[in-house]
Amino acid sequence: MSKYLLNEKCKHEGCNEWSHSGYSTQRALRKAQLNRKDYYCLRHKNPNLLLNSENTNNIQTLVCTKSEHGKFWKIEGKDRLDSGFQHGNGYLVYAKDVPEGTRLIVESRIELP
Ligand SMILES: [Zn+2]
Repeated sequence: MSKYLLNEKCKHEGCNEWSHSGYSTQRALRKAQLNRKDYYCLRHKNPNLLLNSENTNNIQTLVCTKSEHGKFWKIEGKDRLDSGFQHGNGYLVYAKDVPEGTRLIVESRIELP
């Protein structure tokens, strides 16, 4: 059970979303406070990924990349390796199951009524 709570409000002006994280020790809470960055809710962390009436589709491409620790997915054009497993509605894919250089193209689209 979490005895120590860290409550953070989204830093985006006018947003009322909060994050509530719990820690079992005061030491863990202090460590989290020291390492924390400004909190932004999902809506404001990656606003270009948010689908709405003005933005009805997105495409994101990940590339299977081999490192000393195995194969991982990496967002095309970025340096940071992501997970070795990606999933969403309608797909599951392990980087270890495909050749290095395989591109995972995830397209999302909403159709307004
Ligand atoms: Zn927000």
